[in-house]
Amino acid sequence: MGPSRKDCDLPTLAIVVPCYNEQDVLPLTIARLIVELDTLKVNGLVAAASFLYFVDDGSSDLTWPILSAARLDNPSVCALKLSRNFGHQSALLAGLLQARTRCDVSISIDADLQQDAGAMATFLERHRDGAEIVFGVRKSRDTDSRFKRTSASFFYRLMGQMGAGVIPNHADYRLLSAKAMAALSEYSEPDVFLRAICMQLGYRSAIVEFDVSERAAGVSKYSLAKMVKLAVNGVTSFSVAPLRMITLIGLLVFGITLVMSAYILCAALFFGGVVPGWASTTLPIYFLGGVQILCVAIIGEYMAQILTGVKRRPRYLIDEELP
Ligand code: UDP
Ligand code: MG
Repeated sequence: MGPSRKDCDLPTLAIVVPCYNEQDVLPLTIARLIVELDTLKVNGLVAAASFLYFVDDGSSDLTWPILSAARLDNPSVCALKLSRNFGHQSALLAGLLQARTRCDVSISIDADLQQDAGAMATFLERHRDGAEIVFGVRKSRDTDSRFKRTSASFFYRLMGQMGAGVIPNHADYRLLSAKAMAALSEYSEPDVFLRAICMQLGYRSAIVEFDVSERAAGVSKYSLAKMVKLAVNGVTSFSVAPLRMITLIGLLVFGITLVMSAYILCAALFFGGVVPGWASTTLPIYFLGGVQILCVAIIGEYMAQILTGVKRRPRYLIDEELP
């Protein structure tokens, strides 16, 4: 380590930042990340050609004008504008795939400065020690609302039980080497769930813990609908456990039906005087109706995955680039 190292030995870093309507926080973020990048350069961790790569995910506010102005002030600010809002995961993927040809290593980070950018130096040290992927894991969830904390922990438990590997409390603050980005580019699925794909790559990885703070400005861009979509996609694109669960429910209901049939037959044939019960008739109707709709819905989610998969539509469209 140290500035004595020749620049050509150092990796060119791209810091990839997806932004959706982030006009309130962007000026702070740009300033903070420029300082961080310059520090990494001065400390001899990354090459002088390293750059910031912002992806405007179809914002309707001043995000793009702010990025364009920042670019004029500082040539290490690069930006990509998508044609519309494609969602966080697609925007991040767009940034990684576009920046990949110009860098040796990337670090993705949110635009809201919640993740401690100071941890990037440690990410790069782990990479230098041989890790192709470095996962940033948040130390605590104290800054989150109770709803976000509970829903996140439920989601990680669910994903774990479904057999889809994700690291609890790792979102998308992550280092990827050129090799890992090349592997990622081979994944052609429509709705990428990056944290699980990165686990699946199988390359040597490391974990770095970092501190979380409040959003520096603006409000969360992850609506409840977007969170549910991410969770459903995370499960259905990495696990078929819900489909197996339907088989188990089917077997269970079939078993109960056999027992009930035997009971009803015996009652009718041997004991007589059977009064048709209201409760025992209506309850199974409600119960089985609910189970059936749930099962159809689960199958529908997988069908939706297949449908969007076979259409092979582009996962993002580029409107403009400031390379
Ligand atoms: N984001 C995006 N497209 C979207 C929603 C969010 O690019 O459709 C970006 C957003 O600008 C931010 C990151 O994804 O950089 C994480 O979003 P946010 O911080 O709002 O989520 P939270 O931390 O509340 O889960
Ligand atoms: Mg955030």
